[in-house]
Amino acid sequence: MGYRVALAALDETARRGMDPTTLVATTGNDTCAVDGIQSVTGCTFGKRNLIPALTGKPAYLWQDARSGEGVRIYVHYWEQFDREETFRSRMSEWKLGCLPTPEAKAFEAEHERMIADILEAPAETLFRVTPYSGPPPARSGGFAASPCAKCGEHAKQSLLTDGICRECRSRE
Ligand SMILES: [Zn+2]
Repeated sequence: MGYRVALAALDETARRGMDPTTLVATTGNDTCAVDGIQSVTGCTFGKRNLIPALTGKPAYLWQDARSGEGVRIYVHYWEQFDREETFRSRMSEWKLGCLPTPEAKAFEAEHERMIADILEAPAETLFRVTPYSGPPPARSGGFAASPCAKCGEHAKQSLLTDGICRECRSRE
């Protein structure tokens, strides 16, 4: 799905004349779709042009870093998928190696079919693409770091709250 979303994003941003080197992606979830997005669009966590917003939605945004203009893609395919949760529960068991061999084989075949369907489906059955206009994505704030007042370890300044790092806060 990440691959399909990424291709659609590249098409749509090119159609709008956006410079691919200025794109910043914001992702609503942290699934394997984000790997496809990083690999195909070149927006990566390490290059800091991929922002994990983690809203929990299968929604992905590409913006021009300066203007904020861009394209949003929401994957509606998952709304109808696996309503009885039978696929997901078998997926968990399969990953743990808990399915008996015949069931595991059947699940693998079903999984392959699903992937093939997603790769071939018309875009509109998978997601909707809408223009987006909003403030440009926040800059990641450089590399400046200061020691945490509690543990003394250095952390990015913008992520210290009252001089305390997030790790120390999470233990309070
Ligand atoms: Zn600390």
